[in-house]
Amino acid sequence: MKKVYLDYAATTPCDPQVLKAMEPYFLELYGNASSLHSFGQDAKRGVEDARESLASFLGAKPEEIVFTSGGTESDNFAIEGVARALGKKGNHIITSAIEHHAVSEPCKFLEKNGFKITFVAVDKSGLVDPADIKKAITDKTILISVMHANNEIGTIQPIAEIGKIAHEKGVYFHTDAVQTVGHIPVDVDDLNVDLLSLSGHKFYGPKGVGALYIRKGTRIERFLHGGDQEKGRRASTYNTTGIVGLGKAVELCRQNLEKEARFQSALRDRMIKEIPEKIPDVILNGHPAKRLPNNVNFSIKYIEGESILLNLDMLGIACSTGSACTSSSLEPSHVLLAIGLTHEVAHGSLRISMGRWTTVDDINYFMDNLPKIVSKLRAMSPLYDKK
Ligand code: PLP
Repeated sequence: MKKVYLDYAATTPCDPQVLKAMEPYFLELYGNASSLHSFGQDAKRGVEDARESLASFLGAKPEEIVFTSGGTESDNFAIEGVARALGKKGNHIITSAIEHHAVSEPCKFLEKNGFKITFVAVDKSGLVDPADIKKAITDKTILISVMHANNEIGTIQPIAEIGKIAHEKGVYFHTDAVQTVGHIPVDVDDLNVDLLSLSGHKFYGPKGVGALYIRKGTRIERFLHGGDQEKGRRASTYNTTGIVGLGKAVELCRQNLEKEARFQSALRDRMIKEIPEKIPDVILNGHPAKRLPNNVNFSIKYIEGESILLNLDMLGIACSTGSACTSSSLEPSHVLLAIGLTHEVAHGSLRISMGRWTTVDDINYFMDNLPKIVSKLRAMSPLYDKK
């Protein structure tokens, strides 16, 4: 059966060149990167080369990069780390209503422990208004955290503008860039950020490795206690293979980003145009222009996203209804509710996310089959009958 993977926002396959770069670190260069002998030093070189690659890709300095176990740890580290370092100065954090749970959950955890959290609303296209952030700042605000692009609807936020506001008020600014690094340009100075989270498995690296960029001078407590790896900022034996893989993935993105973004955004725009032409009663979720090049998200009214997903899966096509982390939950996505969809419409959402190996043929196959599946499901839907 033909297989078409259109769920790159959930995770990407590892690039074969990444796997090749990692292999020697499993088999020959297996030393502990903290060891002083040659085995250790060889491994350390791999880690430090990756750190340099990543830093230069982000416009950062190597010493501003801390490797972590992925996006979730980086987000938790940023939020709880700043909260612990500056808790005496202030207990207020501002974030948006559409963050990934890796940001919203640590915020809610802090809320139970004496912090005040402002969840700033977004407009219908999922955009945060920087003026709302400005209004929310008090003399107790220590951190603002707004994601660079949303993982479900792809909307790209005015991060540089929000960063400027944060710095005018002397507040740290963190962004979750898990969906943007490797897909659109990300430069820590252009974005005015103090902290930035990223994750290897979202840009053709391995799973279980990520990084937190920490601008020099930012006050932050360590999150993982133990050994003094990462200059005392993050304990645990270096994940050499993962870090080397992440470094190689960065190099490949540096070479391919522009070309891939151009190709994927053409396919994205084609779907955004053709889906409403072929299927009545659909709503585009997310901003029409300020969105990730690889993201398409529609609500298809009168039917369930899960039913569409299962029917597509029977044809070998993998999409998503939203975030993979909440796909087992029956609750509609908090992101879709935050942009004003009703529960019913939110339940009919479908996210298509493309990547390095998506072809025109894949999209043709998807576009040929989606309208047929929707017609079949609507024919059985009591909601569609009553329309
Ligand atoms: N933040 C965003 C925006 C994400 O999309 C994800 C993963 O889906 C994460 C954080 C969590 O990253 P990880 O899977 O590396 O822990």
